[in-house]
Order: sequence, then C-alpha cells, then structure tokens
Amino acid sequence: MAKKENRSLVTLKCTECGYEIRPTSKNKKNTTERLELNKYCPTCKKTVVFREKK
Ligand SMILES: [Zn+2]
Repeated sequence: MAKKENRSLVTLKCTECGYEIRPTSKNKKNTTERLELNKYCPTCKKTVVFREKK
C-alpha cells in the first residue's frame, strides 16, 4: 500500500524580489519546517534564498 502523502507541491518565492518559481515537490518526511532553498533568480540575476510560500 504505497501512499503518496509524503510529497506535496510547494511554490518557492524569492526572499529578495518576491519572484515565484513553479511548484517543486517537497519531501514532508525530511522537511517538516518551511522549506528554504538556494536557487538562481532570473529577476535578481543571482542565487538567492527561496522560501516556501504559504
Ligand atoms: Zn529575486
């Protein structure tokens, strides 16, 4: 009985300009806190911290 509840789609938002990137799958098992990722932002033209939008 495989369940898919461990993963959910989240939208990540640039903490500097507010740019949103398309939903990414998040592993709820490993990530119980709000997700934060370093990603390249095309608006800031640099790598910035993206935070889960809720
Ligand atoms: Zn940005």
